[in-house]
Amino acid sequence: MSNCLLCDQELSNQESLRDLILMKKENLTMCDNCKNKFEQVSEASCKTCCKKSSEISCEDCQEWERKGKSVNHKALYYYNEEMKEYFQKYKFQGDQLLAGLFAEEVKAALKKYKGYTIVPIPLSDKRNEKRGFNQVTAILESAGIPYQDLLIKKDTKAQSQKNKKERLKAEQAFERKELENKSWPEKIMIMDDIYTTGATIERAKEMLHVNEVKEIRSFSLAR
Ligand SMILES: [Zn+2]
Ligand SMILES: [Zn+2]
Repeated sequence: MSNCLLCDQELSNQESLRDLILMKKENLTMCDNCKNKFEQVSEASCKTCCKKSSEISCEDCQEWERKGKSVNHKALYYYNEEMKEYFQKYKFQGDQLLAGLFAEEVKAALKKYKGYTIVPIPLSDKRNEKRGFNQVTAILESAGIPYQDLLIKKDTKAQSQKNKKERLKAEQAFERKELENKSWPEKIMIMDDIYTTGATIERAKEMLHVNEVKEIRSFSLAR
């Protein structure tokens, strides 16, 4: 008998049986009560970034549009209370099992983008950085999705010589990897855990603008 990874309730016989039938990996599961609290992105969303919106293009995307950027983002869930709690728990525990909670859904969603190279956003959280835990790549690894670390953290040395403001700024910054003997992929799917304003994704896109790259999209678990 296994327990829900989120609320620790014992899973009912029915839930366990269903997992058995679907041949899900051991323990990669949550109870129906928890599952139902997550809200999947619906039709009533911005068409370019999946933000819950009655408009075809939300205010965030319009703002990017004004800056000459075009948003092409897909998310699976809204960032509601339950999702917020999940990420807090997941990041805090750095737990591989929690990384797998949405792995199958992420896998199914990314399958639709054949020919895209998945590029994860590098670590941005200071605490996680110490542990070397990247919540984005952990989800990808748990789902068995191949990816390429084409973005790297910028300026990771001499952190101690900087003041707090400089350190915060450096935490956000990344640059593209130098590919010596390899060519750049034509199509890239940038992956992050949560899409908030889109600023991180836009910065990543700027970094990935090289001649060979013809198309860049982005994807996140939550929006
Ligand atoms: Zn539960
Ligand atoms: Zn939008």
